[in-house]
Amino acid sequence: MNLKRISDYHKTLAIIELYPCLQGEGARRGHPSFAIRTTGCTHRCYFGEDGGWCDTWYSSIHADKGCFSFKDILKLVEKHPHIKEIMLTGGSPTMHPELLNEISHLAHSHKLFVTLETEGSHFIQTDHPFDLISLSPKLSNASPVLNTLTPKNKTVTESFIKQHHKYRLNYRAMREMMDYHKDYQLKFVCDNHPERLQEILMIIDELGALHDKVYLMPAGSTREEMVKQYPIIMDIALQHGFKFTGRDHIIAYDDKIGV
Ligand code: SF4
Repeated sequence: MNLKRISDYHKTLAIIELYPCLQGEGARRGHPSFAIRTTGCTHRCYFGEDGGWCDTWYSSIHADKGCFSFKDILKLVEKHPHIKEIMLTGGSPTMHPELLNEISHLAHSHKLFVTLETEGSHFIQTDHPFDLISLSPKLSNASPVLNTLTPKNKTVTESFIKQHHKYRLNYRAMREMMDYHKDYQLKFVCDNHPERLQEILMIIDELGALHDKVYLMPAGSTREEMVKQYPIIMDIALQHGFKFTGRDHIIAYDDKIGV
C-alpha cells in the first residue's frame, strides 16, 4: 500500500510534546519509549469531581498549537539509539493520518515497536501496521457537565457536550483498527458506579474483544486524585477478572507535563 506521507520534514506538525519517557500504562508499562503527543481531539472528557478534566486538556479541550517537525522526531530517535519504542498519543492521533503513516515508515526502518493510543474515533491504515493499538473508548463517566467550567474557565455548553459525543463509541472504527493492526488492548477509565461494569461488558461484547486484553484504569489528572481511586479500581478488576493498570507517570510526577 502507498498511503500519503509527509513530504516536508521541516514543516511544523500538530505535535505538542516529544520526549523520551517510560510508558506508564497498559501492556507496555515500564518500557522506554519516545512519546509523541499530537494536538486536537474529537472528545471533551470530564471524569466528574473525583477524576477531573482530561489530564492532557492542553491537547484536547484547549488544544495548543503544534511546535515540532518530523525532523525533530528523527533527531530524537538518533540521539537515543537504546530506545526501541514509540508511544503515539494525544489528543487524538488518528486525526493526523499522514503523520501516522510517516511514523509507520520510521518504525519499520528503525525496528521500533509502536503503540498507538486512541479513543477509537477513526480507523486509520498505515503502510506498516502498528504493533499495538491501545483503545480507550470513553464511557458515560467521561461526559462533560452543562454549565461547569473547563480548565481555562470556559462554560460548558450544549454544543461542547455534543462535540464530545459526536465520535464516541465508533464500534466500526475500533473493530477495523483491531483487525488491521497487529495487536490491541482496551483500556477503560473506570469508577465504582454500578453502571460502569455493564457499559464495559457491553463494549467488549460489541467489539468481540478478548477479555484478557482489557485493562481497568483509575481516573485522575493529579497524584492525589489517582491514589484515592487505585484501591477501588483494583478491587473491581480483581472481582471481575480484568487486568489493572495504574498510571505511573502521574504517580511519579503528579500533573507535570512532558514526562
Ligand atoms: S479522548 Fe483522551 S485526549 Fe481526548 S479529551 Fe478524552 S481523555 Fe482527553
